[in-house]
Amino acid sequence: MRKPDIFDEIIQCLKAGEKTGADTSMSEETLNVFLHPIRGNAGNAPLAAARSRPEVRAAVPAPVMRPQRQVAPAPVQAPPPQNIQGVPPAYAPDMPEWESLRTECAACMKCGLGKTRTNMVFADGNPHAELMFIGEGPGADEDATGVPFVGRAGELLSRMIAAMTFDRKTETCIANIVKCRPPGNRNPADDEAAACMPYLKRQIAMVNPKVIVLLGAVPLLYLFNLKGITKLRGRWLDYNGIPAMPTYHPAYLLRNPPAKKDAWADLQAVMAVFGRKPAPRR
Ligand code: SF4
Repeated sequence: MRKPDIFDEIIQCLKAGEKTGADTSMSEETLNVFLHPIRGNAGNAPLAAARSRPEVRAAVPAPVMRPQRQVAPAPVQAPPPQNIQGVPPAYAPDMPEWESLRTECAACMKCGLGKTRTNMVFADGNPHAELMFIGEGPGADEDATGVPFVGRAGELLSRMIAAMTFDRKTETCIANIVKCRPPGNRNPADDEAAACMPYLKRQIAMVNPKVIVLLGAVPLLYLFNLKGITKLRGRWLDYNGIPAMPTYHPAYLLRNPPAKKDAWADLQAVMAVFGRKPAPRR
């Protein structure tokens, strides 16, 4: 049986408060017990007071680098015959352009990953969400189901999102740099990422989230042309006016549990943007 980790304990604390009707927030002292010492986020403190988009934008520290220039979306190609079994049913009937893009991606063969996929993995959650997570690419479980982050790393991401007091399905949107599985769970190659990025950029433009969370080194590289997740995690970036927070990929956290405290510090900075910092001092 899996040993409870920091995110489980945070969720338990929140649930206990819900049951009793007591204050569901966690004291700062309690969080400090979980997280001490938290490093690298002192510069995020002003974000705690930000609650609306203009104020958030004003409060976010200056970006360290602008993203790469936007590339014009590739022209729509005539879709070849394609098996789209496993593609989840439409969940955004009020956003036809989202479903239209999903259909386009399901037929895509623009890179070699299209030949080996079982399912194209488009996104999960709500395309109207204010919080967007971007990972690297589907693994075996995601390839089998057509849904991102459903394996062990996905389970941890779900617990991280719950610890942030967000609902994964309705309050977040989750996508990847590439939509088809790189064989052997390797990182996407440059040409594969380049072929797929126009789809992700169109998704980000449609969702237009208040905050993006970058999960690991791959989205940092392909959205910002930056390397060094260990150095850059916890530092706000700017994606076309949208604050973006790099943090560790859940798969890395499974391999390196001590890094969870740093990831939680990054997520707390994101929570503060939404006014969800769970620790009023008692
Ligand atoms: S990874 Fe992206 S570009 Fe490559 S085939 Fe799949 S949807 Fe098309």
